[in-house]
Amino acid sequence: MALIVHKYGGTSMGSTERIRSVAQRVAKWRRAGHRMVVVPSAMSGETNRLLGLAKELMPHAAAPEAMRELDAVAATGEQVSVGLLALALQAEGVPAVSYAGWQVPIETDSAFMKARIRRIDEARVQADLAAGKVVIVTGFQGIDAEGNVTTLGRGGSDTSAVAMAAALEADECLIYTDVDGVYTTDPRIVPEARRLHTISFEEMLEMASLGSKVLQIRSVEFAGKYRVPLRVLSSFTPWDIALDEEAASGTLITFEEDEKMEQAIVAGIAFNRDEAKISVLGVPDRPGIAFQILGPVAEANIDVDVIIQNIANDGRTDFSFTVPRNEYLRAMDLLRSRVQPAIGAADVRGDPRICKVSIVGIGMKSHSGVAARMFRALSEEGINIQMITTSEIKTSVVLDEKYMELAVRALHRAFELDTPPRADA
Ligand code: ASP
Ligand code: MG
Repeated sequence: MALIVHKYGGTSMGSTERIRSVAQRVAKWRRAGHRMVVVPSAMSGETNRLLGLAKELMPHAAAPEAMRELDAVAATGEQVSVGLLALALQAEGVPAVSYAGWQVPIETDSAFMKARIRRIDEARVQADLAAGKVVIVTGFQGIDAEGNVTTLGRGGSDTSAVAMAAALEADECLIYTDVDGVYTTDPRIVPEARRLHTISFEEMLEMASLGSKVLQIRSVEFAGKYRVPLRVLSSFTPWDIALDEEAASGTLITFEEDEKMEQAIVAGIAFNRDEAKISVLGVPDRPGIAFQILGPVAEANIDVDVIIQNIANDGRTDFSFTVPRNEYLRAMDLLRSRVQPAIGAADVRGDPRICKVSIVGIGMKSHSGVAARMFRALSEEGINIQMITTSEIKTSVVLDEKYMELAVRALHRAFELDTPPRADA
């Protein structure tokens, strides 16, 4: 009999009716003989509502002591969920017990709003499982060494579930959500997008970091580190479908070694509009210049993504990079007021109206000409590429944001993602 972790997202927990359906589904798994741990999110919209209340009352500059209270407020959404789900299971005649993060405990560092899990003491959960109970543990929250309640960052319940699965050495972690798996791209943009039956862990990591919102990226990192078998599937199928059918649905995240099937070259297309482009022009071409530009940006805690430096011409070069769009004004200000005068750059220009579109696939490791095919598809649509970056398994381009949907559709077609590869059919 397997030890299984189920995670249910906010929409899956969105009403008492939905929670009852979750309880019926979990009860079905329990009755099949599995040991069950369930990690729910807050009911949909609840975390936003709680943080909204907190922001109405909090001081303007968020001091560390205010951050602590934000977490105290935000964590209550999941507290409600676990209790309700335990009651619903008990109503189904299934023994169940709920725990907040601190009761397990799930120990984290003290970075409020984005805490990292350090250790999970799984003894209490194991004891309940041995006693035949379904154990329900809050997603999203933990406790730091000083006993403060912490939260793991938005979408953090995915990470809670994977971390629980790792600590318990669970046989599988099932992430139930409102879509039925991971798609080749967002079906709202490309109606022909297909669900992937499997995706490799590396591809999933890229897709999550490049803008696919299905899983919190940290949960994928965690799954990779501890080799947690992970499946993304829908909680909106009828709860009483056959367990075998349910267990084989959705998208399985695999590790390369297990991969026997022939891979599509490109697994999926990710995109986001969360970045802005900045160019520092006429920079003297001398050692240390990249550091002089990006050092202050890093010090200001602004993440930098795509970076391009041109070949120098007459001892001067241009240096471009992207930053999160919500940090754009702060970054421009910093560069104009401090960096430009310090290094004697000619100008600093920026454009927040960009998008990043990426193709992702481990097949790119062993196939040449993939990037060229991408550039041809974009050129056939008359789309100008502003920046390019590559890694072993992805190529990303920065474009004018008005071309985002057109580019995603063109690439989806160019890599034949509209039709299933044979091994995947
Ligand atoms: N409730 C938290 C959020 O909305 C955590 C989660 O749902 O994963 O971000
Ligand atoms: Mg989520």
